[in-house]
Amino acid sequence: MTASKDQIKLNKLSKLKTTKKSSKSNNTNNTNKSKKSTIRNLVIILGDQLDASSAALNDFDPSLDAIWMAEVAEESTHITSSKQRTTFFLSAMRHFAAHLREQDWPVLYSELDAADNSGTLAGELTKTIQQHSPQQLIMAAPGDWRVLQSLRTVARDHQLAIDIRDDAHFFTTVREFMQHASNRKQLRLEFFYREMRQKTGILMDGAKPIGGKWNFDIENRGSFGKHGPGQLPQPSQFAPDAITQQVMRIVNQQFPDHPGSNDTFAWPVTRNQALQALQSFIEQRLPSFGLYQDALWEGEVWLYHSHLSSALNLKLLNPKEVISAAETAYTQGHAPLEAVEGFIRQLLGWREYVRGIYWMNMPDYQHSNAFNANGQLPDFFWTGDTNMACLRDAITQTLKHGYAHHIQRLMVTGLYTLLLGVNPKQVHEWYLGVYVDAVEWVELPNTIGMSQFADGGLMASKPYIASGKYIDRMSNHCKTCRFDPAQSTGENACPFTTLYWDYLSKHADTLAKNPRMLMQLKNLNRLSKEQKIAIHIQAEQHRAMI
Ligand SMILES: Cc1cc2nc3c(=O)[nH]c(=O)nc-3n(C[C@H](O)[C@H](O)[C@H](O)COP(=O)(O)OP(=O)(O)OC[C@H]3O[C@@H](n4cnc5c(N)ncnc54)[C@H](O)[C@@H]3O)c2cc1C
Ligand code: SF4
Repeated sequence: MTASKDQIKLNKLSKLKTTKKSSKSNNTNNTNKSKKSTIRNLVIILGDQLDASSAALNDFDPSLDAIWMAEVAEESTHITSSKQRTTFFLSAMRHFAAHLREQDWPVLYSELDAADNSGTLAGELTKTIQQHSPQQLIMAAPGDWRVLQSLRTVARDHQLAIDIRDDAHFFTTVREFMQHASNRKQLRLEFFYREMRQKTGILMDGAKPIGGKWNFDIENRGSFGKHGPGQLPQPSQFAPDAITQQVMRIVNQQFPDHPGSNDTFAWPVTRNQALQALQSFIEQRLPSFGLYQDALWEGEVWLYHSHLSSALNLKLLNPKEVISAAETAYTQGHAPLEAVEGFIRQLLGWREYVRGIYWMNMPDYQHSNAFNANGQLPDFFWTGDTNMACLRDAITQTLKHGYAHHIQRLMVTGLYTLLLGVNPKQVHEWYLGVYVDAVEWVELPNTIGMSQFADGGLMASKPYIASGKYIDRMSNHCKTCRFDPAQSTGENACPFTTLYWDYLSKHADTLAKNPRMLMQLKNLNRLSKEQKIAIHIQAEQHRAMI
């Protein structure tokens, strides 16, 4: 309905231009070309670029230019995207297109279920170019290497210039990150983060960090203790409106076998909703975010986390406004420094750092497999059907809500696949498919680098490995689990503990080169040869069973 209104607008625009052109040049050759509407700039807005103040729209003139958006099956099938993730993207895109149209901006929009939808971004863009003959393409830098290549190819095939602009949703450009990296033998978050604090002045007192320390990480590792988290603040939830409901029907129809469900869908899909979610995080959860950042609790999905990653990644929120809100909460005495610094470190540090790692190392990075891990991802990652309580909880909530917090991703699901020896590409495809916040520039380095250590230490200084005792310390999962985190062999041995020692034994020679691994290897050496053999047999039995 609205799409055809856009078409009428474009046709009027085209007639106007054709008339002007023909009166000027007196060109009578108005056959094929004059039937097409010609537009000056075709502004490409991808599903994770939903910001009306995007650099791509800086000089947008609705009387000359048009916006192009496309829903395509490829984005949900090149990896198996969960129903909730696909719904989130498409619903946010439709809401954004509606917002643009309210301002009377022409939007050329391909709907997923349109009969002539080619199923790929390249196919849809090609059609639009053939129909409307734009003089130029404009876009903000995409977050995905694959998408950039594919759109560039279309532009080249049509001999069209494509103006790719820096994405203002980051504090640093990829070029600046590369400069930072070029002066160093080794990349480490901590040094990058300090540079970012100095560059931006965030949480700084002149040249010094506020509070005298750069990093309050040590104070970000509390657990909930025996009594649990008690009454937790309710997360912001947004009931699906008519647009989201329609998208849900389409997604359920088009991808009936994709994992997860839409039944619990409650994500913010508009900027206004995202701003509400930000406000409720700052008011209700930020003060306790620092202390409980790493804690886990059975059945508690949301805890004190922000749940803002999906809104940030689709650009419904700008990290600059999110950090500013957190910093204000500190200066006004609403939240303690360790909470605010812990939160800001994730956005100003990790988020920017992983983006730099991604663009600096693609496309080879996606194939990293430093430890030559070639196991299969267990089937229960698609169902949650396992008797390991910690994994069951993390996977079940992931499939239900499209969300798990960082320690669940890193120290439960990621730790297990690392210790089990699953092929990193399979692990990457799972993470990219199941989380509503999953976009490749942030997901891939977190999976390949931080979680699977498959880049051999490019991103992280050591593998994040631990036995089941870590999960026991940080959660209550082990209390109800049929396994015992203290046991590495025998019927009740915790698979995490067995696999942990087996991993250390297997990779001891390689890991010994890393000074940060010496303590763990020293502990390994306390085990007798017989113990190591028994652990290895148990680990292999577990792998065979899985
Ligand atoms: C294996 C693995 C895969 C991941 N995949 C993704 C992904 O696809 N998309 C994604 O946004 N994050 C990913 N992360 C990072 C992190 O787990 C999520 O950003 C976080 O859990 C999102 O929940 P939240 O918004 O409640 O975060 P909070 O705990 O409230 O943190 C605040 C914000 O900081 C940012 N942030 C926190 N940790 C990281 C990090 N390690 N890297 C980059 N940004 C970070 C996020 O924008 C987040 O919203 C992944 C982590 C791991 C270990
Ligand atoms: S005992 Fe092991 S498998 Fe069970 S919940 Fe604890 S860490 Fe997870």
